Amino acid sequence: MKVVKFGGSSVASGEQFRKVANIIERDSQRKIVIVSAPGKRYNDDVKTTDLLITLAESVTTDGYDQEIFNAIIKRYEEIVRDLSLHTELIDEVRMSLEDAIDRYRHQQARLLDVLKSSGENNNAKLMAAYLASLGYEVSYVSPQEAGMMVTDEPGNAQILPESYELLAKLKERSGILVIPGFFGYSHEGHIVTFPRGGSDITGSIVAAGVDADEYENFTDVDSIYCVNPLMVNNPCELKELTYREMRELAYSGFSVFHDEALQPVVEKGIPVCVKNTNRPEAPGTCIVAERKLNGQPVIGIASDNGFCSLNVSKYLMNRELGFGRRLLAILEDEGISYEHTPSGIDNMSVIIRCERFMNGKEERIMQRIRTELEVDQIHIERDLAMIMVVGEGMNRAVGIAAKATKALAEAGVNLKMINQGSSEVSMMFGVEVNDVHKAVNCLYKAYF
Ligand code: ASP
Repeated sequence: MKVVKFGGSSVASGEQFRKVANIIERDSQRKIVIVSAPGKRYNDDVKTTDLLITLAESVTTDGYDQEIFNAIIKRYEEIVRDLSLHTELIDEVRMSLEDAIDRYRHQQARLLDVLKSSGENNNAKLMAAYLASLGYEVSYVSPQEAGMMVTDEPGNAQILPESYELLAKLKERSGILVIPGFFGYSHEGHIVTFPRGGSDITGSIVAAGVDADEYENFTDVDSIYCVNPLMVNNPCELKELTYREMRELAYSGFSVFHDEALQPVVEKGIPVCVKNTNRPEAPGTCIVAERKLNGQPVIGIASDNGFCSLNVSKYLMNRELGFGRRLLAILEDEGISYEHTPSGIDNMSVIIRCERFMNGKEERIMQRIRTELEVDQIHIERDLAMIMVVGEGMNRAVGIAAKATKALAEAGVNLKMINQGSSEVSMMFGVEVNDVHKAVNCLYKAYF
């Protein structure tokens, strides 16, 4: 049995719904279908989820932005009309939005989550209605009915372990099941969404819950490329990569697949195949537990901006028991997770995503570190980008880093940081944001 997830652009219009139906038609193993909210139909289109967020932000005690509201309804209306579905479905969408606004207008975080979740929820209902109209035995299954139990953190849900046993029962149901992605229910009975792009996470959790043979993730590219095609012309396509490689690439900027989505399938060893809804015959990319290395040490190069480095120095730091722990404890206390901690004898840097360092937290944290740890110097470096060179084949291979540093030196890129974890599956280079493009291109030439 396969769990099949369709991303936003794959379910953005009636025309895309037809492609989805053809894909389901072609393989009887495709039993559980996870859908996103209607995404972009063309480049500068707006995703329904973004419209819903704007709507939530516009809600006041006695009103909301009617234009945005209408724009959301129109997205569903177009699909319903194009597919000749029952127009009552449009009224249901309208009512779901009005109801959410009425009930939660005084609870901003809840309102935001309920409205965001309606994007996928209403689309899943439309998809189920469409498949039924084609004669399939099909049911819409709400995440609550499916057993998708999550933590009660609005916008940042995490799956609760008990969900897996509940989800396993989906296997007993007949016909095709259509489940909306992106959200679950907390014990308190609230709708709670996963982070953005979280329908991938739903798909992966459901695939693990029902012990699927494969998790197919349909999107709008033929495959995963070895480097971002917006940075390098015509980069090579990847046929296969391992979970660890995908995790490293997704973490550092590969947006094809949500980086949190792998964990549930990894534990069960379920292969994930990324495919193109617009060209389903293309082989796509499969993410698997193990692959043949084919003598190629590096499989991909990723990059991500928006990092800052908190640089701390103190003479004899290396001999001060508990220094690192106390530094990180201050960040923990302030609710900030960190990414990496490169260090020297008397200095330590903590790399943090800049967006976590906002709302006045930064000054307070610097002050606490100054007084509580009595450091000699502390400063924040901004506008950093991390470039990740990834590949299972790098393990024990000699000269891989030399190739990168030589290429970067020849291109005149200043390296601010180098980091390699013990797994040897990736090497990280910190550079200034302005150098990223040049750096990625020269690394691509060096390795591919
Ligand atoms: N619709 C949500 C988003 O745009 C979730 C998803 O599509 O995966 O983030």
